[in-house]
Amino acid sequence: MTETTLSAPSRQAVDAVRADVSTLHAELVRYNLVAWTAGNVSGRVPGEDLFVIKPSGVDYDALAPENMILCDLDGNVVEGDHSPSSDTAAHAYVYRAMPEIGGVVHTHSTYASAWAARGEEIPCVLTAMADEFGGPIPVGPFALIGDDSIGQGIVATLRGSRSPAVLMQNHGVFTIGKNARAAVKAAVMCEDVARTVHVSRQLGEPLPIAQGDIDRLYDRYQNVYGQR
Ligand SMILES: [Zn+2]
Repeated sequence: MTETTLSAPSRQAVDAVRADVSTLHAELVRYNLVAWTAGNVSGRVPGEDLFVIKPSGVDYDALAPENMILCDLDGNVVEGDHSPSSDTAAHAYVYRAMPEIGGVVHTHSTYASAWAARGEEIPCVLTAMADEFGGPIPVGPFALIGDDSIGQGIVATLRGSRSPAVLMQNHGVFTIGKNARAAVKAAVMCEDVARTVHVSRQLGEPLPIAQGDIDRLYDRYQNVYGQR
């Protein structure tokens, strides 16, 4: 592989994100979020206008740090022997528009995509949803691949929303996070609550959670929960 010229610290940062993004793809398989070669994870290289993304059409079993693709924030390939994921333009748009975001994930996970196919947001009826998403998981516009319309739809929906996940109508899930791992976690949790709320709907009408309680749960989980 031809390597672009980078300073030693930048090279180290790129290599770390390559390893991270490669490993995180296994989580999409482990949590049953992807079929065949669908789905992708990307991660921003800290301090650089670069991100690392999955190559297009490569089997999950064959993914390795070396075959991840390094792109600039316009989605142009900087290093890589394969074409980048066909969703690269959408990831690049998110990184350009949201400088605080360090990771993006896309899946067609079953239950979440079933909500997306109906164009219906997932209502916040579980405390786990209030924790992670701070409210409903919103629906983004129908958009075709090929230009910036998917990226624009993701950013327009998630900017100003607490949710790190959007259901793109008739398509699937995009999630964002402070790094690639956080975006993968959001994708796993999105599918989990999509399944549970769907099952609940089969049994009757899920009970809403009062907005004040959603706010308290979200605040506690985001600011207090876990290892400090
Ligand atoms: Zn897709």
